[in-house]
Amino acid sequence: MARVEGASVERGVNVPQSYRLVRRDARAERTVVRLRSGATFGGDEIAICAGPCGVESSQQLEEAARAVAAAGANVLRGGAYKPRTSPYSFQGLGEEGLKMLRHAGDRYGLGVVTEVMDPRDVERVVQYADMLQIGTRSMQNFPLLREAGATRTPVLLKRGFSATVQEWLLAAEYVLLGGNENVVLCERGVRSFDVVTRNMLDLAVVPLLEEMTHLPVIVDPSHALGIARLVPPIAAASIVAGAHGLIIEVHPDPANALSDGAQSLDFAQFEELMLRLAPLAALAGRRLPRRAVNDDGAAASRGYVASEPGENGSSDGAVRSSNKGVRLA
Ligand code: PEP
Ligand code: MN
Repeated sequence: MARVEGASVERGVNVPQSYRLVRRDARAERTVVRLRSGATFGGDEIAICAGPCGVESSQQLEEAARAVAAAGANVLRGGAYKPRTSPYSFQGLGEEGLKMLRHAGDRYGLGVVTEVMDPRDVERVVQYADMLQIGTRSMQNFPLLREAGATRTPVLLKRGFSATVQEWLLAAEYVLLGGNENVVLCERGVRSFDVVTRNMLDLAVVPLLEEMTHLPVIVDPSHALGIARLVPPIAAASIVAGAHGLIIEVHPDPANALSDGAQSLDFAQFEELMLRLAPLAALAGRRLPRRAVNDDGAAASRGYVASEPGENGSSDGAVRSSNKGVRLA
């Protein structure tokens, strides 16, 4: 790592003074980010975000939400605004997709995380989502970071695919500077010389960031690898390395997905992965989300039944009332 002016050396790692708000010693306690649904990032409970790359239809999303909730996920992922390399590829369903996400999230007791690309869409997306995803291509979209910083909705800030750790932390600094302290960092691989996998996962940042920042860190093995069969072992490794959560692409029919099918798990693969993760979470001193069963008999998972929001000022408060029918299993 290049030395930065004004850096101090802390446990062997240079921590520039310019990370005023995100640096580890800016806070006595580590940040725990809590979604309205009750899912937490940064505490003892690991967050498991799962769902399709893109929201394609209400049926696809409902099926995925039901399956990932039954397997023990506590946050539903799905893009309504898709950042696609080609303008001719599927671009997402926009606000219709956001409505589907909210509906499926409420039905199965899942928090909702979805990408926002355009600062002008932030106001709309926060009406539906529990967490704003800022994607790898947007990590240094400074107007977007400022707009997200002006909300109090939790932000999942992915690492830019060519961003240094310093650039990534300074992007997070923009959000905190706006007054939004609810930021979770997401390592999703960086572009390398080798194209055998889609990106190269930098797993070392998980323990490294634990030293450098008080913000929670999760891993996205799906986009890092681009190959579904490699996702389970690397998801497992991420938990053992100390990740506070995972975000994983799961699709009812990966072969026919409109985006990222090759890296998407099917339902059986995801369920098997969750079984494999439970003892590893314990090994890392953490636990998977608590499971619950909702009124129509499907298993779901959440923490919101038990916990009060806002221990360290990191919650946006409201507990969603439409999830009342869920009981802990
Ligand atoms: C996604 O999560 O579907 C996505 C586009 O991720 P990334 O920004 O990491 O490529
Ligand atoms: Mn994707």
